[in-house]
Amino acid sequence: MANTKSKNQKCSFCGRDKKDTLLLIAGLEGHICEACVEQAHEIVNDELGSKAKTKGEFHFKLPTGVTPLGIKTFLDNYVIGQTDAKKYLSVSVYNHYKRLNQKSTDDVEIEKSNILFVGETGTGKTLLAKSIAKYLKVPFAIVDATVFTEAGYVGEDVESMLSRLLQASDYNVEAAQKGIVYIDEIDKVARKGDNASITRDVSGEGVQQALLKMLEGTEVNVPPYGGRKHPEQKMIQVDTSNILFIMGGAFDGINKLIAKRLNTQVIGFKKDVDHIHDEENLLKYISHQDLKAYGLIPELIGRMPVLTYLDPLDKETLIRILQEPKNALLKQYKKLFALENIELTFSDDALDFVAEKAMEYKLGARGLRSILEAILTDSMFELPGRDDIKEFVVDRSYAHDKLMNSTITKLKAA
Ligand code: ADP
Repeated sequence: MANTKSKNQKCSFCGRDKKDTLLLIAGLEGHICEACVEQAHEIVNDELGSKAKTKGEFHFKLPTGVTPLGIKTFLDNYVIGQTDAKKYLSVSVYNHYKRLNQKSTDDVEIEKSNILFVGETGTGKTLLAKSIAKYLKVPFAIVDATVFTEAGYVGEDVESMLSRLLQASDYNVEAAQKGIVYIDEIDKVARKGDNASITRDVSGEGVQQALLKMLEGTEVNVPPYGGRKHPEQKMIQVDTSNILFIMGGAFDGINKLIAKRLNTQVIGFKKDVDHIHDEENLLKYISHQDLKAYGLIPELIGRMPVLTYLDPLDKETLIRILQEPKNALLKQYKKLFALENIELTFSDDALDFVAEKAMEYKLGARGLRSILEAILTDSMFELPGRDDIKEFVVDRSYAHDKLMNSTITKLKAA
């Protein structure tokens, strides 16, 4: 009897005979072959990837008792200086989430306040956006505008930024719809001059048009795994009306446009701009008009109502950045040395030297890490295991010698 039973074993799903399968798994009432297991696995992935997770709920609440001042104080722990940018960011994030939590009872609809940061590279634009996301505990994605091209060209569709946000929220669409996207290098999608008709401007104005829709707030079909490579993947619908977009860019050369505008104003309106000093950060006076002159389309500019600037980092600020933030670089290196029972200190003139070099390389605060690494690599190689050394002091001449012997000095030419 048992023999006849095993002879008739079949997959209960596709009906294949045991002899035609590689593997037949027995269940309580039936069997399943390896091919059906694989197919079932794909179905589960598909369904869970789109349907089940899209139902996840997400209730956003600003931490209680929070004020814009409280948000700024939090940012102070991570970002040094940049007072104006912090102030603008705190207010617009605060208002944005007040808007999300409002129960709409009248016709007054508070509009979204996407933010644009203009400032040199390495001055803390991304850091501000990252820090605010940490504070709010919402999904956060960083994307680079330079990879986007108009649909149909080599590159990425702007929708792919929402794929990143979905990934960051573990495919909880509700959460993603209240998240923050930081779009870096937004200045690179500016229209390239007036002769766009000669070579098609697929990464410029076309991308701006696509971004515009997303910033306005619309339902977008998003490929969950990003890219255009899997046309068969199921799209997930994401509503962008409550996503906060923070954009950043260096807008190289915009200083000239600002200066030009300010000078014309002197003639046109007799406005006194004599108080502007040569060395002053002209970005302080940036206006939406300058962005238009730079090549952003007016409709897109209209969707970035909050416009603010970052100061270039001077020597004093760079020295503070080395020491003060919660995760400051010097604190990290001190900890690394302390784990070897060595107390690491930098003399004041060594700190001056590091900051001066970072300014020379024009990398903003981004250069600090590589400079410290170049100065400390030898000691980090030689000191572990040396029980006789309890203290290690880096002074200016040591820092100078180590840096000059490292490859980082090549940066100078760049
Ligand atoms: P960008 O303005 O190009 O977006 P980032 O925010 O990415 O620059 O800064 C690069 C790195 O430099 C950050 O990871 C951070 O460690 C440091 N940094 C830049 N600006 C500041 C700042 N104002 N305060 C503290 N750290 C800063």
